[in-house]
Amino acid sequence: QPVLGVLGGGQLARMLALAAAPLGVKTLAVDSVADACAGQVAPLLVADWTDYAALEAFAARVDVVTFDFENVPAETAQRLAERVAVFPNPRALAVAQDRLAEKTLFRECGLPTPDFMTVDTREQLDQALATVGAPAILKTRRLGYDGKGQFRLHDLADADPAWAALGAQAAKHGLILEAFVPFERELSVLAVRGRDGDFRTWPLTRNWHVDGVLSMSLAPAPDIELLQPRATELARTLAERLDYVGVFALELFVRNGELLGNEMAPRVHNSGHWTIEGAHTSQFENHVRAVLGLPLGDTGARSPSAMFNWIGELPDATAVLQGVDAHWHDYGKQARPGRKVGHATVCAPDAGLLATRLGGMAVALGREAQVAPVLSVLA
Ligand code: ATP
Ligand code: MG
Ligand code: MG
Repeated sequence: QPVLGVLGGGQLARMLALAAAPLGVKTLAVDSVADACAGQVAPLLVADWTDYAALEAFAARVDVVTFDFENVPAETAQRLAERVAVFPNPRALAVAQDRLAEKTLFRECGLPTPDFMTVDTREQLDQALATVGAPAILKTRRLGYDGKGQFRLHDLADADPAWAALGAQAAKHGLILEAFVPFERELSVLAVRGRDGDFRTWPLTRNWHVDGVLSMSLAPAPDIELLQPRATELARTLAERLDYVGVFALELFVRNGELLGNEMAPRVHNSGHWTIEGAHTSQFENHVRAVLGLPLGDTGARSPSAMFNWIGELPDATAVLQGVDAHWHDYGKQARPGRKVGHATVCAPDAGLLATRLGGMAVALGREAQVAPVLSVLA
């Protein structure tokens, strides 16, 4: 029986393990904390990312290594790659870990990005603000996620508070100042590339964030006829440039009807959770297939789907459990402010029925505000 090794033991590793099982694939996850939630469904090895002895023992027990977490040190990925197949490859991981390398690659692939400048000193922040303009967002180049490591600047006077918040990170990780994009929509394209180069995308997903954290997703995103072919070609170009194997997400802004690249995630992605019930093959199953060299499955949507993210704590599950074609996912994590602890997906044969089901569920859950932007699109 093949064994899939996963670096990181969070909910993504957990859902990978759940998708791997029916394929006859075992999973072994590694995480620095013993209560990582993947450990509830698969064996978990506890080790730090620089505990090379433990990681060597891990490599000896698995057939292929992949990631639930993209901020594994490049050195660790490289060392593992000398012993066992690692997908995506460490170079692709390194590009996706650094907002500068990532945006540079996007531009090389013909995908414009928001204006940006790197910032390493307080003086450079002033220069960057003068060039990029305000409003803007200062971000750490590395290690940010869920909107952490970001500061929004409304005008030039915000340079001091921005530096107070992130200046200490400048020396360690570097910073980048990005123009704030007043986008019309946020979309993501989930893509998968096999070891043999077979490449597929799921239909574009529309996403809504609250405080930098994904709140709701809707798929297929409405009105994407013109954008889907371009998004697919851009994702293919990126994947081929990186010799990428596995699933990745490309986060996009739509501005004046054109796509702008925000960032890529070199792994399965929160905006693709709807594919578990809403697509013929889920992102998790196709990632397992891809990294093991198995044929990829159909990425078509089965039905329109909407996903609620549960941040901080889970609501009462009853309304979802009682819903038609509604699906509850509890990651088995402790409640904690800002933490992703679960999600729910609702599917329906058409957009009208999806709106009805979502609206009813929102009332029962007391989540009208969270669902409102999705309902306005489905109306
Ligand atoms: P994650 O990896 O969890 O998606 P992150 O911390 O890497 O999050 P980003 O994707 O950079 O963060 O930003 C989070 C959200 O903040 C975006 O999805 C978008 O809603 C908003 N945002 C980020 N950058 C910009 C920008 N330049 N203009 C407008 N909005 C932005
Ligand atoms: Mg990110
Ligand atoms: Mg993001």
